Amino acid sequence: MRAIDDVACSKPGCDNFGQPGVNIVCHGWFTTTSGRRWRYRCKSCGATRSTNTGTAYSGLRCSRKAFDQVATLRVEGVSLSATARVMGHSRNTIARWLERASIAAERFNGHILRDFPILELQADELFTFVGSKRRTIWLFAIIEVSSRLWAGSRLGRRSYRNTKTVLNDVILRGRLIGVPLIATDGFKYYSGVIMRLVGPACIYGQVIKTRRNNRVIRVERRLKIGTAGRLNKALLESEDSETLNTSFIERLNLTIRQGSAYLRRRSTSHARCEDQLREHVELFRCHYNFVRPHRALRFGRETRTPAMQAGLVSQPLTWSDIFTAGGPFPCLFEAVRISVYVPPTEFDAAERPTIFWPHEQRRAA
Ligand SMILES: [Zn+2]
Repeated sequence: MRAIDDVACSKPGCDNFGQPGVNIVCHGWFTTTSGRRWRYRCKSCGATRSTNTGTAYSGLRCSRKAFDQVATLRVEGVSLSATARVMGHSRNTIARWLERASIAAERFNGHILRDFPILELQADELFTFVGSKRRTIWLFAIIEVSSRLWAGSRLGRRSYRNTKTVLNDVILRGRLIGVPLIATDGFKYYSGVIMRLVGPACIYGQVIKTRRNNRVIRVERRLKIGTAGRLNKALLESEDSETLNTSFIERLNLTIRQGSAYLRRRSTSHARCEDQLREHVELFRCHYNFVRPHRALRFGRETRTPAMQAGLVSQPLTWSDIFTAGGPFPCLFEAVRISVYVPPTEFDAAERPTIFWPHEQRRAA
């Protein structure tokens, strides 16, 4: 049983709405095939709720484990029909679960992906289609290189408006540190959008690759904002990049293509509509940022997730953390957030910030 201090009334309009532990009492329990679930009652409005109410598990007739397993299979590139066969449920049931899981993941991304440090950004677009081959669509993806965080994504046409929306979202959510380095491909709208949103407060370059017979024969690097001296200084300070490059976003694109049945090349299981694809991408993004340890972020025995490296959470999360985050335990958001980021003072503003981890702080104290 969860501590009652964590539970809050979930009825909008009630005086105790969203206040954990205020006027909440236990109201018995009920049994499910996977064990006991507690029910709580608000003393002010009389509304009752269970531990599943308001979460992605609400109304579920199976175990939470089965639900989590479906989400895992989906982000490992298994198609909808194959997931249904493996789990022994109907295709419609799996589709309904995934819709709920994706909504929870989208909400989670929106709440937690905030205030991350931006040192180096790379942006790119992925080509795919929905419904039929004639309806082409692009997936914009932006990675924060130092933490490998998939900071922004947007589906739509390859237009000025979409380019601006996705970059604006990332810049508003994150925190620019010093003079960030931004690299993209040669797509025409990036230059204007970055000039308008960040201006001379960043260094921006394009990496243009010329291909022949599917092989890169020439790589051209163009500096669009900033001077060559500032670019060299930024590259010297960067822990990841030695030259102006888009390797990290291209590696992320490969991860996305491998891990998603909808976005894989030469596949028969493409998405039937745009909403379906968007929801799937959000679920995948949540898994990539919060659940899946990133092999490039290995520090001794610990392999961190991108969200841990960005200082948003203190440990790898589980699907259960994500799916119950909007439920009766609103303070979970505070619990998973720890402040491990030390902002630079004026004195060392030019230097890369140092990130302290809790065990290091304990050792120092
Ligand atoms: Zn109430």
